[in-house]
Amino acid sequence: MKRATLKFLTLSSLVAIGLLPSISPAAEPLPVVASFSILGDLVQVVGGERVKVTTLVGPDADAHAFEPKPAHAKAILQSRLFVINGLNFEPWAQKLARSANYQGQTLVASHGIKVRKLPLDKGLQHAEADPHGWQDPSNVVVYVKNIAKSLASLDPAGASSYQKNSETYIKELESLDQFTKDQLAPLSLKQRQVITSHDAFGYFAARYQIRFLAPQGINADVEPSAKEVAQLIRQIKRDKIKAVFVENMSNPKLLAQITQDTGVALGPKLYVDALSGPNEPGSTYLKMMHHNVTQLVAGMQRN
Ligand code: ZN
Repeated sequence: MKRATLKFLTLSSLVAIGLLPSISPAAEPLPVVASFSILGDLVQVVGGERVKVTTLVGPDADAHAFEPKPAHAKAILQSRLFVINGLNFEPWAQKLARSANYQGQTLVASHGIKVRKLPLDKGLQHAEADPHGWQDPSNVVVYVKNIAKSLASLDPAGASSYQKNSETYIKELESLDQFTKDQLAPLSLKQRQVITSHDAFGYFAARYQIRFLAPQGINADVEPSAKEVAQLIRQIKRDKIKAVFVENMSNPKLLAQITQDTGVALGPKLYVDALSGPNEPGSTYLKMMHHNVTQLVAGMQRN
């Protein structure tokens, strides 16, 4: 090969013909474990190709009542970052990391949000804080910044990439927030009442002035008493509430009973504490929120 020819070869072609070693920005993606599907999506969005995300509680599954298996402990041990929601959403998570003797970093993604305190009713004994912070997109901005900071501390070479990805995503969260406000604007305060199975919409309710009533408390796995169910049925009848929704990760039996007793048609599935599978409308956080807002508004229009 003549020198003149070599001069015109680009750097990438030198790599391609084997004259220079390949310099990949992230030859070994950073192994990260997320406790549940919504966090898994956020970590993937911020981390992009530089991370390899494993999610413990997958689509349509209930993280409140999850029982970890040895494979989950193994996944944590192989990771360098364990991302959890915190606020007692996944009480099993830190126990699991401890019992596996995990030495890597743990990030509480909700750290720094304005925590909503719960009224001490509905059988609440332990949780004082509402863990469902992701139901308010402005909280998710905090989650995303926390994730970007943690990833950058473990992979400083990727810091600008994490920064860029999070900034782009934060713009999408802001559009989601605006979309929600626009959709709700025509509804009167009286119309803004919704029945769901468990009490997961507190942050959403506070941001968008909607009243959510739920027969189950904050934990999807706690059964309500017959008295609580009867009270809710009376309220649905009195206020003529038509917006009744099931959640993707909980048992619809209870709401089926309520709809039968009140003659109200059950609305479509909302994606609440978990994403949907890939072929359903809630396969990412942004898709799940768009779906929920659209369905909730359609339901409340009938109130
Ligand atoms: Zn929940």
